[in-house]
Amino acid sequence: SVNNDDLKARIRTIPDFPKPGIMFRDITTLLLDAHGLKTTIDRMVAAVDGPVDLVAGIEARGFLFAAALAVPLNAGVLLIRKDGKLPGATIAEEYALEYGHDRIAMHADACAPGARVLLIDDLIATGGTARAAVRLLRKAGAVVTQAHFVVDLPDLGGADALRADGVEVRSLVA
Ligand code: IMP
Repeated sequence: SVNNDDLKARIRTIPDFPKPGIMFRDITTLLLDAHGLKTTIDRMVAAVDGPVDLVAGIEARGFLFAAALAVPLNAGVLLIRKDGKLPGATIAEEYALEYGHDRIAMHADACAPGARVLLIDDLIATGGTARAAVRLLRKAGAVVTQAHFVVDLPDLGGADALRADGVEVRSLVA
């Protein structure tokens, strides 16, 4: 179905996780469903615009979708992790959280200048994480023109902010 309601039905909402007042979208139930998982990957692959050299996945659930997309796209996988987790020389980017800040990192030599990189995560909310990932990838010389997510929480404005950064944003479920 074009509206992806079949996939939406396989994602559950857990109230008050990780803190009171947060409605957490839980995609583990989608991952558990063989048909739902395959359909998710097929539809994400179909939405990709043009050839990509690398699929960048954001720790941790983004890794699952990045690897599954990279195989049919004939692309490699680039890991974007919390700072301090990657073994080689890294570059990092900071982003603001509700209270304080966080840092994500990638290997400094992970992509060649001009590499066409598709950014993937399970969900975009405020866009803080994805926007920092785009800045990080561009700092490394990557060309980042598209970012795809399974879920968008549009009321939080992340997708619009990412579009303002010059990135095409697609998601299956809002
Ligand atoms: P943002 O930086 O506010 O856009 O938050 C997105 C990041 O936090 C992604 O890496 C998501 O995996 C994670 N995240 C935030 N909210 C949720 C949620 O409701 N379900 C699953 N992941 C979430």
